Amino acid sequence: MTNMNRRNFLKTTGGAAVAVGATLAAPHVALAAAGKVVIVGGGVAGATTARYLKLANAAIDITIIEPNATYHTCFMSNEVLGGDRTLAQIEQTYDGLVKMGVKVVKDSVTGIDAAKKTVITAGGMPFDYDHCVVAPGISFKAEEFADVGDHSVITHAWKAGPQTATLRAQLEAMADGGKMCIIAPNNPFRCPPGPYERASQIAHYFKHHKPKSKVVIIDRKDKFSKQGLFMQAWKDLYGYGTDNSIIEWRSASTMAGLEAISAKDMTVDTLAAGKEKFDVINFIPDQKAGEIAFAADLANDKGWCDVDKITFESKKHKGIHVLGDASVATSMPKSGYSANSQGKVCAAAIVAMLAGKPVGTPSYVNTCYSIAGENYGFSVAAVYRYNAEKDEIAGVKDAGGLTAVDASAEVRRREVEFAYSWYNNICKDTWG
Ligand SMILES: Cc1cc2nc3c(=O)[nH]c(=O)nc-3n(C[C@H](O)[C@H](O)[C@H](O)COP(=O)(O)OP(=O)(O)OC[C@H]3O[C@@H](n4cnc5c(N)ncnc54)[C@H](O)[C@@H]3O)c2cc1C
Repeated sequence: MTNMNRRNFLKTTGGAAVAVGATLAAPHVALAAAGKVVIVGGGVAGATTARYLKLANAAIDITIIEPNATYHTCFMSNEVLGGDRTLAQIEQTYDGLVKMGVKVVKDSVTGIDAAKKTVITAGGMPFDYDHCVVAPGISFKAEEFADVGDHSVITHAWKAGPQTATLRAQLEAMADGGKMCIIAPNNPFRCPPGPYERASQIAHYFKHHKPKSKVVIIDRKDKFSKQGLFMQAWKDLYGYGTDNSIIEWRSASTMAGLEAISAKDMTVDTLAAGKEKFDVINFIPDQKAGEIAFAADLANDKGWCDVDKITFESKKHKGIHVLGDASVATSMPKSGYSANSQGKVCAAAIVAMLAGKPVGTPSYVNTCYSIAGENYGFSVAAVYRYNAEKDEIAGVKDAGGLTAVDASAEVRRREVEFAYSWYNNICKDTWG
């Protein structure tokens, strides 16, 4: 903190709750000498960066500023909707990071002064930094459908937590024979296979508990991630392609434009089908970087943040790194695994920069599992390298792949096991 020792600062943070780790006991001078990093957001990218900075150099002074006391992972939140997992089972705490010496401040960042290298919070306390990491995830371009309001009736459930619980409660309350719809967003958005995994998980719930019910996906695109694999799964599990299919997918061209969504009369209005009534509507809006990216002048005119692909330093403001869903990471999808991988790359870059050493050329990784039903999983995996000529994060040829559409039942069963194991590992790797 500027002009304030750390102990006094902690006494004067007002409303902001501060969890303090063991390094607080270490001499202030030693910590300051190693460098100070302030991280905006304790989600996947922010928490991973904090953890890997501490692992690389315990003397770096790290503060995460995050408004929520705990974090619910979006990954496996579709299983909560399907009924195979509880919300409590996807909740992560910051205890592991605090134990390592990371300070976690419960507050919300409202601005960043890049010239003064200071982060400003709603709680009113400024935090100065050598490097600032901005990892706020996404926000919604919700202005097109004002009638959806605050998402209390028509959920998005695209940030896991209370929205997930609301959508699950709506599905439980729905009578057998009811119809729910998922409105899937335009690209680019967080977790490209997510809406289709969600439809599968809800169909899984209907199949076992409300077999006369239907899931209609009204898509704003004509094709989607892992389409062949999902459609095969829907055929194998939910009668897709027959009159009795639990899932119906309608492409953007078929719907010919989404005109209105009404929370008052629970209708979706498309040019092709007119006003159609649903018992439950899950509207996943088009997306952009988290709001702070705009307040801090980090976003481009498409709503995402351009970065140096090796350091994740903003192309607009030096000393500020943007990563995770909010960043433009070329061919890497907006996923938790990508955010985790980028957190490690960014941490290594900051450690090198603080030590005045050259930053190496990183590789990055992503695997994305989807669970379409009981014992039925599949995945896509990729390894990436930085391509200096094209200034892009490019997939390494033959270093990844997709589960085969005609994979055996045993392979599909194992993919579910791998997905569960991946979940446990990535949570441990991210939050400790
Ligand atoms: C249904 C669904 C299923 C998914 N499944 C998978 C999957 O199987 N595998 C996978 O890899 N990915 C999956 N994802 C994607 C994954 O959840 C995201 O890509 C990942 O969370 C992105 O990490 P992030 O750190 O960028 O953002 P987040 O994890 O969202 O973290 C952002 C954090 O920043 C905080 N924040 C925001 N603004 C501020 C501010 N002003 N001040 C302070 N803090 C702030 C937020 O509270 C939040 O905690 C899924 C997503 C969804 C929606």
